[in-house]
Amino acid sequence: SQQQKYTGIVEDCCCNYETANLLNEEVLYPSLQELVKTPFFRYFKVKLWCDCPFWPDDGMCKLRDCSVCECPDNEFPELFKRPFRRGLPSDAPICQEGKPEAAVDRTLDHRAFRGWTVTDNPWTNDDETNNDEMTYVNLQLNPERYTGYTGPSARRIWDAVYSENCPKYPSEELCQEERLLYKLISGLHSSISIHIAADYLLDEDTNSWGENLTLMYDRVLRYPERVRNLYFTYLFVLRAVTKTATYLEQAEYNTGNPTEDLKAHSLIRQLLYNPKLQAACPLPFDEAKLWKGQRGPELKQKTQEQFRNISALMDCVGCEKCRLWGKLQVLGLGTALKILFSQNGEDKIVQTLQLQRNEVIALINLLNRLSESVKFVHEKGAAVERIMERQ
Ligand code: FAD
Repeated sequence: SQQQKYTGIVEDCCCNYETANLLNEEVLYPSLQELVKTPFFRYFKVKLWCDCPFWPDDGMCKLRDCSVCECPDNEFPELFKRPFRRGLPSDAPICQEGKPEAAVDRTLDHRAFRGWTVTDNPWTNDDETNNDEMTYVNLQLNPERYTGYTGPSARRIWDAVYSENCPKYPSEELCQEERLLYKLISGLHSSISIHIAADYLLDEDTNSWGENLTLMYDRVLRYPERVRNLYFTYLFVLRAVTKTATYLEQAEYNTGNPTEDLKAHSLIRQLLYNPKLQAACPLPFDEAKLWKGQRGPELKQKTQEQFRNISALMDCVGCEKCRLWGKLQVLGLGTALKILFSQNGEDKIVQTLQLQRNEVIALINLLNRLSESVKFVHEKGAAVERIMERQ
């Protein structure tokens, strides 16, 4: 049963499943849900227009303004194409989220986010400095959910991510460092699948959305390893967030809305200095154990290159909303990697921690996504497995 499958220490982590679930329910999930709604954390700066470096002839990224319009017609439901944009030319691209508010407040850049520097992240292929092509997206108006993006394009991305950049070997043959990337990506993949299943278009005619538990079982729950990787990724990212507590506590969350900004700051403190968290799982992941052996520096460099490739691959995701969340979450993972592994003096690029505001936004939103997935699996996983296994 689920109870027996997921007990004890999460592999390669320092915290067990029971504690992870308890902390998630009592501390992380409630604070994060509030935090991601605040103005500082809900606007993500992103280059949505893709220029995929790997497959120039893909032809998937033609319509800039559409959340999901890049999918070829036969790859997403009719409903998504129904026009409901008002005040726009009739030939404007129409898409699922097509509400004008979902677009960008371009004045925000000048008013907000004072006190944040622009620094490089050696783990990611990010391009935040090129403002011309960047846009702000209100994440609250663009929830990660089912978009209808499937088929060869989606498959090609996942295949490239796994086969070229984090190949899976039988785990006994690998040291922890070599398992790291696979587990992080697999955990993220589980979380994306869980969000698709948790918010699925059940009936195109009535536009009714809801849970698709069969899909959740088929893609995640029936593979215990994928669930374990989800918990691993969750604890890894949580460790990155707690490790950077002082930095996050002192950072500016200024968006020109004092009430909301104060709230963001106080929620950050509430999350980072929670006594329950510190008592139950003070070290969710022990990064000091990694890269120690003779091959340490070489392995670290290889992992960094592989992760940078994965980050670049996000420009090839052929559905805009998927690309948004793909980019955000990969940047979040890259930020966690930077926090945990780029400050020990070996890394030439980052000696003392400096984070871009976008990295912090990505990190917190990623942790929130993972926290939602962990909650879903914990609350519903066992029941879903029972139902599916009876069928
Ligand atoms: P896929 O999820 O495409 O999986 C492909 C293969 O990877 C599987 O056959 C399996 O061998 C392996 N695999 C699957 N899960 C795991 C795991 N957890 N660990 C290890 N291996 C695994 N679709 C949406 O509807 N909404 C989105 O927001 C969205 N975001 C996406 C973001 C990115 C970056 C990408 C690449 C795709 C996204 N998609 C999204 C598409 C979605 O992830 C699936 O690719 C699509 O639904 C087709 O699913 P599938 O059944 O073919 O399996």
